[in-house]
Amino acid sequence: KRFVADASHELRTPLTSIQGNVDFLLQLDHPDAELQKETLADISSETRRLNRLVKELLTLAKADSGVSLNFQEVELSALLDEVVRQARFLAQGQNFHPVLDEAEGVVLRVDPDYFKQMLYIFLDNGFKYTPPGKNFFFKVARQENEVTLIFQDEGPGIPEKDLPHIFERFYRSETSRTGEGAGLGLAIAQWIIEAHGGKLRVESEENKGTTFFITLSILSLF
Ligand code: ADP
Repeated sequence: KRFVADASHELRTPLTSIQGNVDFLLQLDHPDAELQKETLADISSETRRLNRLVKELLTLAKADSGVSLNFQEVELSALLDEVVRQARFLAQGQNFHPVLDEAEGVVLRVDPDYFKQMLYIFLDNGFKYTPPGKNFFFKVARQENEVTLIFQDEGPGIPEKDLPHIFERFYRSETSRTGEGAGLGLAIAQWIIEAHGGKLRVESEENKGTTFFITLSILSLF
Protein backbone atom coordinates (compact mmCIF):
# COMPACT_ATOMS: atom_id res chain seq x y z
CA LYS A 1 0.00 0.00 0.00
CA ARG A 2 2.76 2.37 1.03
CA PHE A 3 4.73 1.46 -2.12
CA VAL A 4 1.78 2.30 -4.37
CA ALA A 5 1.19 5.57 -2.50
CA ASP A 6 4.86 6.58 -2.75
CA ALA A 7 5.03 5.55 -6.41
CA SER A 8 1.93 7.59 -7.28
CA HIS A 9 3.37 10.58 -5.51
CA GLU A 10 6.68 10.28 -7.39
CA LEU A 11 4.89 9.85 -10.72
CA ARG A 12 2.66 12.83 -10.12
CA THR A 13 5.51 15.32 -9.71
CA PRO A 14 6.96 15.06 -13.25
CA LEU A 15 3.49 14.65 -14.78
CA THR A 16 2.26 17.85 -13.13
CA SER A 17 5.33 19.69 -14.34
CA ILE A 18 4.93 18.41 -17.92
CA GLN A 19 1.25 19.31 -17.95
CA GLY A 20 1.98 22.79 -16.57
CA ASN A 21 4.64 23.44 -19.17
CA VAL A 22 2.52 22.21 -22.07
CA ASP A 23 -0.46 24.32 -20.94
CA PHE A 24 1.86 27.30 -20.63
CA LEU A 25 3.13 26.84 -24.21
CA LEU A 26 -0.43 26.40 -25.50
CA GLN A 27 -1.66 29.68 -24.07
CA LEU A 28 1.20 31.77 -25.50
CA ASP A 29 -0.01 33.88 -28.42
CA HIS A 30 3.35 35.14 -29.62
CA PRO A 31 5.82 32.63 -28.25
CA ASP A 32 9.33 33.90 -27.73
CA ALA A 33 11.74 31.35 -29.29
CA GLU A 34 14.08 31.34 -26.29
CA LEU A 35 11.26 30.83 -23.76
CA GLN A 36 9.78 28.12 -25.92
CA LYS A 37 13.12 26.29 -26.00
CA GLU A 38 13.58 26.53 -22.22
CA THR A 39 10.10 25.16 -21.63
CA LEU A 40 10.65 22.29 -24.06
CA ALA A 41 13.96 21.51 -22.34
CA ASP A 42 12.06 21.26 -19.01
CA ILE A 43 9.50 18.96 -20.58
CA SER A 44 12.30 16.83 -21.99
CA SER A 45 14.09 16.40 -18.67
CA GLU A 46 10.87 15.66 -16.79
CA THR A 47 9.99 13.07 -19.42
CA ARG A 48 13.40 11.46 -18.98
CA ARG A 49 12.86 11.34 -15.23
CA LEU A 50 9.44 9.78 -15.72
CA ASN A 51 10.87 7.20 -18.10
CA ARG A 52 13.54 6.17 -15.61
CA LEU A 53 11.01 6.04 -12.78
CA VAL A 54 8.62 3.80 -14.70
CA LYS A 55 11.49 1.43 -15.55
CA GLU A 56 12.54 1.28 -11.90
CA LEU A 57 9.00 0.68 -10.69
CA LEU A 58 8.61 -2.12 -13.22
CA THR A 59 11.81 -3.78 -11.97
CA LEU A 60 10.59 -3.62 -8.36
CA ALA A 61 7.14 -4.90 -9.32
CA LYS A 62 8.85 -7.88 -10.98
CA ALA A 63 11.03 -8.37 -7.91
CA ASP A 64 7.95 -8.44 -5.68
CA SER A 65 6.12 -10.90 -7.88
CA GLY A 66 9.06 -13.31 -7.71
CA VAL A 67 10.38 -13.07 -11.27
CA SER A 68 12.79 -15.90 -12.09
CA LEU A 69 16.19 -14.76 -13.28
CA ASN A 70 17.80 -16.10 -16.43
CA PHE A 71 21.08 -17.39 -14.97
CA GLN A 72 24.01 -18.07 -17.28
CA GLU A 73 27.69 -18.82 -16.89
CA VAL A 74 29.46 -15.57 -17.59
CA GLU A 75 33.13 -14.59 -17.86
CA LEU A 76 33.41 -11.73 -15.44
CA SER A 77 36.16 -9.79 -17.21
CA ALA A 78 34.35 -9.77 -20.57
CA LEU A 79 31.18 -8.50 -18.91
CA LEU A 80 33.05 -5.84 -16.92
CA ASP A 81 34.98 -4.66 -20.00
CA GLU A 82 31.71 -4.03 -21.77
CA VAL A 83 30.19 -2.21 -18.80
CA VAL A 84 33.29 -0.05 -18.28
CA ARG A 85 33.34 0.93 -21.98
CA GLN A 86 29.80 2.27 -21.60
CA ALA A 87 30.42 3.81 -18.19
CA ARG A 88 33.23 6.04 -19.46
CA PHE A 89 30.55 8.16 -21.15
CA LEU A 90 29.09 8.95 -17.71
CA ALA A 91 32.23 10.76 -16.57
CA GLN A 92 32.03 14.53 -16.38
CA GLY A 93 35.54 15.47 -15.40
CA GLN A 94 35.93 12.81 -12.69
CA ASN A 95 39.00 10.57 -12.84
CA PHE A 96 37.63 7.09 -13.41
CA HIS A 97 39.96 4.20 -12.47
CA PRO A 98 38.80 0.69 -13.33
CA VAL A 99 41.16 -1.89 -11.73
CA LEU A 100 39.81 -5.16 -13.02
CA ASP A 101 42.75 -7.56 -13.51
CA GLU A 102 41.63 -9.86 -10.68
CA ALA A 103 38.45 -10.58 -12.67
CA GLU A 104 40.59 -12.43 -15.21
CA GLY A 105 39.58 -16.10 -15.46
CA VAL A 106 36.59 -15.79 -13.11
CA VAL A 107 33.28 -17.35 -14.15
CA LEU A 108 30.10 -16.33 -12.32
CA ARG A 109 26.53 -17.54 -12.54
CA VAL A 110 24.51 -14.41 -13.26
CA ASP A 111 21.55 -13.02 -15.13
CA PRO A 112 23.56 -10.71 -17.41
CA ASP A 113 20.83 -8.09 -17.87
CA TYR A 114 20.01 -7.71 -14.18
CA PHE A 115 23.67 -7.97 -13.23
CA LYS A 116 24.61 -5.11 -15.57
CA GLN A 117 21.65 -3.07 -14.35
CA MET A 118 23.04 -3.44 -10.81
CA LEU A 119 26.56 -2.39 -11.88
CA TYR A 120 25.22 0.71 -13.62
CA ILE A 121 23.38 1.77 -10.47
CA PHE A 122 26.69 1.94 -8.54
CA LEU A 123 28.55 3.47 -11.49
CA ASP A 124 25.83 6.09 -12.00
CA ASN A 125 25.87 7.03 -8.33
CA GLY A 126 29.67 7.11 -8.25
CA PHE A 127 29.80 9.59 -11.12
CA LYS A 128 26.85 11.54 -9.76
CA TYR A 129 28.44 12.08 -6.35
CA THR A 130 32.14 12.36 -7.26
CA PRO A 131 32.98 16.01 -8.01
CA PRO A 132 34.95 16.82 -11.18
CA GLY A 133 38.69 16.35 -10.63
CA LYS A 134 38.18 13.75 -7.87
CA ASN A 135 38.72 10.00 -8.18
CA PHE A 136 36.24 7.20 -8.64
CA PHE A 137 37.61 3.63 -8.49
CA PHE A 138 35.93 0.46 -9.69
CA LYS A 139 37.99 -2.49 -8.45
CA VAL A 140 37.76 -6.26 -8.37
CA ALA A 141 39.36 -8.22 -5.53
CA ARG A 142 39.54 -12.00 -5.59
CA GLN A 143 39.50 -14.19 -2.51
CA GLU A 144 39.55 -17.98 -2.52
CA ASN A 145 36.04 -18.79 -3.73
CA GLU A 146 34.65 -15.29 -3.99
CA VAL A 147 35.08 -12.03 -5.84
CA THR A 148 34.35 -8.59 -4.45
CA LEU A 149 33.37 -5.70 -6.69
CA ILE A 150 34.32 -2.38 -5.10
CA PHE A 151 32.95 1.03 -6.03
CA GLN A 152 34.96 3.67 -4.21
CA ASP A 153 34.25 7.37 -4.65
CA GLU A 154 35.62 10.63 -3.31
CA GLY A 155 32.18 12.18 -3.01
CA PRO A 156 30.56 13.87 0.01
CA GLY A 157 30.00 10.61 1.90
CA ILE A 158 26.72 9.58 3.50
CA PRO A 159 25.74 10.94 6.94
CA GLU A 160 25.75 8.19 9.58
CA LYS A 161 22.07 8.69 10.33
CA ASP A 162 21.22 8.00 6.67
CA LEU A 163 23.39 4.91 6.23
CA PRO A 164 20.89 2.36 7.62
CA HIS A 165 18.22 3.69 5.24
CA ILE A 166 19.89 4.14 1.86
CA PHE A 167 18.74 0.73 0.61
CA GLU A 168 15.09 1.48 1.38
CA ARG A 169 12.74 2.26 -1.47
CA PHE A 170 12.28 5.99 -2.13
CA TYR A 171 14.91 6.96 0.43
CA ARG A 172 17.03 10.00 -0.44
CA SER A 173 19.19 11.80 2.04
CA GLU A 174 18.51 15.51 2.63
CA THR A 175 21.61 16.47 0.69
CA SER A 176 20.38 14.88 -2.51
CA ARG A 177 16.70 15.79 -2.68
CA THR A 178 17.26 17.54 -5.97
CA GLY A 179 18.37 15.71 -9.07
CA GLU A 180 16.52 13.15 -11.02
CA GLY A 181 16.62 10.04 -8.82
CA ALA A 182 13.63 8.79 -6.87
CA GLY A 183 15.67 6.84 -4.34
CA LEU A 184 15.00 3.45 -5.93
CA GLY A 185 18.44 2.66 -7.38
CA LEU A 186 20.02 1.08 -4.31
CA ALA A 187 16.82 -0.81 -3.40
CA ILE A 188 16.93 -2.40 -6.85
CA ALA A 189 20.68 -3.09 -6.60
CA GLN A 190 20.21 -4.79 -3.23
CA TRP A 191 17.45 -7.01 -4.60
CA ILE A 192 19.57 -8.01 -7.64
CA ILE A 193 22.56 -8.85 -5.42
CA GLU A 194 20.43 -10.96 -3.07
CA ALA A 195 18.86 -12.75 -6.06
CA HIS A 196 22.43 -13.71 -7.05
CA GLY A 197 23.20 -14.99 -3.56
CA GLY A 198 25.62 -12.10 -3.03
CA LYS A 199 26.37 -9.79 -0.12
CA LEU A 200 26.34 -5.99 -0.12
CA ARG A 201 28.16 -3.73 2.32
CA VAL A 202 28.82 0.00 2.48
CA GLU A 203 31.41 2.13 4.26
CA SER A 204 31.17 5.89 4.19
CA GLU A 205 32.80 8.86 5.81
CA GLU A 206 31.47 12.39 5.44
CA ASN A 207 33.67 14.66 3.33
CA LYS A 208 35.85 11.70 2.36
CA GLY A 209 33.77 9.35 0.27
CA THR A 210 31.75 6.19 0.02
CA THR A 211 32.68 2.60 -0.83
CA PHE A 212 30.27 -0.16 -1.76
CA PHE A 213 31.42 -3.83 -1.61
CA ILE A 214 29.56 -6.58 -3.47
CA THR A 215 30.73 -10.12 -2.78
CA LEU A 216 29.72 -13.06 -4.97
CA SER A 217 30.62 -16.75 -5.15
CA ILE A 218 32.87 -17.81 -8.00
CA LEU A 219 31.35 -20.60 -10.09
CA SER A 220 34.63 -21.69 -11.66
CA LEU A 221 38.04 -20.45 -12.83
CA PHE A 222 39.74 -20.90 -16.18
P1 ADP B 1 18.65 7.36 -6.65
O1 ADP B 1 18.09 6.26 -7.50
O2 ADP B 1 17.71 8.50 -6.41
O3 ADP B 1 20.04 7.80 -7.05
P2 ADP B 1 19.69 5.57 -4.64
O4 ADP B 1 18.79 4.51 -4.10
O5 ADP B 1 20.69 5.16 -5.68
O6 ADP B 1 18.78 6.75 -5.18
O7 ADP B 1 20.46 6.25 -3.44
C1 ADP B 1 19.73 6.59 -2.25
C2 ADP B 1 20.47 7.70 -1.51
O8 ADP B 1 21.73 7.22 -1.06
C3 ADP B 1 20.80 8.92 -2.37
O9 ADP B 1 19.75 9.84 -2.35
C4 ADP B 1 22.01 9.47 -1.67
O10 ADP B 1 21.61 10.26 -0.59
C5 ADP B 1 22.70 8.24 -1.12
N1 ADP B 1 23.84 7.78 -1.97
C6 ADP B 1 23.85 6.71 -2.79
N2 ADP B 1 25.06 6.53 -3.36
C7 ADP B 1 25.86 7.51 -2.86
C8 ADP B 1 27.23 7.87 -3.05
N3 ADP B 1 28.03 7.17 -3.86
N4 ADP B 1 27.70 8.94 -2.36
C9 ADP B 1 26.89 9.64 -1.53
N5 ADP B 1 25.58 9.37 -1.33
C10 ADP B 1 25.06 8.31 -1.98
